Amino acid sequence: MQNKNRFKRLVKNNCACYLGAKHGISNYCCLQDGPCVFFSQNDALPRCIYFENGVLPIDGKLEREYKSERNIESEFKTAQLRVNCQKCRATFSANSNRQKYCEKCGEKNANEKSKLRMRQMRKSRLDVTL
Ligand SMILES: [Zn+2]
Repeated sequence: MQNKNRFKRLVKNNCACYLGAKHGISNYCCLQDGPCVFFSQNDALPRCIYFENGVLPIDGKLEREYKSERNIESEFKTAQLRVNCQKCRATFSANSNRQKYCEKCGEKNANEKSKLRMRQMRKSRLDVTL
């Protein structure tokens, strides 16, 4: 996860529960009575309610990323991402920040892609038989 370090920095600088090295535990969190979840290696998408309510709102952009990554319904639902379709330029509300095309163009795009794939497959088959 590329923004994990940003979470860590946010925790380190702003979380009241983060106490650094304590009781022989590094990145000690007093809520967890153990290491802060954002510093654990194995949990790809850690969640912490305290962090969500008390720390995350400091960084609005990171908060949106955090919530969309975890599919958390939030007040952002009403302020849904408005994006211009890269094909037809129509404005639509995106479900994720990776969505580039409106629903229509997305469908079209997928069709064209699979058509192209088929064409390439047939061509490569032909090359082999010839
Ligand atoms: Zn479109």
